[in-house]
Amino acid sequence: MVSTMQPQVMRAAGIESGYGRVQVLWGAGLDVRAKESVVLLGANGAGKSTLLKVIVGLMPAWKGSVQLDPDDVTSWRTDKRFRRGMAYMSEIGVFTGLSIDENLRVGGQFIEKAALRIRMEELYAYFPDLAHRRGALAGSLSGGQRKMLGMAKALASSPRLLVMDEPSAGLSPLFVGQVIDVLKKFRESGLAMLIAEQNIAFLDLADRVFTLEGGRIRFEGSVTELEADDSLHKAYFGLA
Ligand code: ATP
Repeated sequence: MVSTMQPQVMRAAGIESGYGRVQVLWGAGLDVRAKESVVLLGANGAGKSTLLKVIVGLMPAWKGSVQLDPDDVTSWRTDKRFRRGMAYMSEIGVFTGLSIDENLRVGGQFIEKAALRIRMEELYAYFPDLAHRRGALAGSLSGGQRKMLGMAKALASSPRLLVMDEPSAGLSPLFVGQVIDVLKKFRESGLAMLIAEQNIAFLDLADRVFTLEGGRIRFEGSVTELEADDSLHKAYFGLA
């Protein structure tokens, strides 16, 4: 468990946003502290992807603010946020028409070339399956391998905050377990993570949990506190 005394890496507050005239987020906010992994739980359509896109700058905040310590980045473009230490893995995660090596270079485009070379070798050591096939097209990889490449690509810039949208999407339970194991290793290395998920297996990684319902944060606390709340327990863990 990460101490509450850790400095804050990112805080989104009072976020309102949506598509066209359709409002999806109604004052949602959350924060991530250094070395902490935060899981954002919510059903399909709750607004998790939208909130993450506002945090990384792929969608505008109609209202509210995003702070990436020490800056207010609300009006910053995505690339500037990435240069300051954010990284983002979308549900798709990779460029299928590029090779494994090229995907990592895209992921690390904002860091210095020599640092990227070292970082890529570190990542290939973490992901040996990818190291053996550096020139292979990402599109030729299995779903599980693509997800590993998606994580490696997002990590290529040595971020201080990794933002992930449903890393379990499209994966069998076996691969979901492998993704969680890899993320545990990065968590141990001190990386701060924000993971949007509806798969409660990811709670294994969570120092703190937020739940999102109808574009609003309903709960913030530990996994133990989430489990202790009857209605949330029913909503997220079923009746069993
Ligand atoms: P999921 O797990 O299905 O991705 P989510 O919690 O990430 O769900 P969002 O993808 O943020 O939810 O979607 C929130 C709401 O916004 C949904 O009602 C969805 O239909 C709507 N929405 C998402 N993308 C668009 C879009 N490009 N244009 C219009 N409405 C959209």
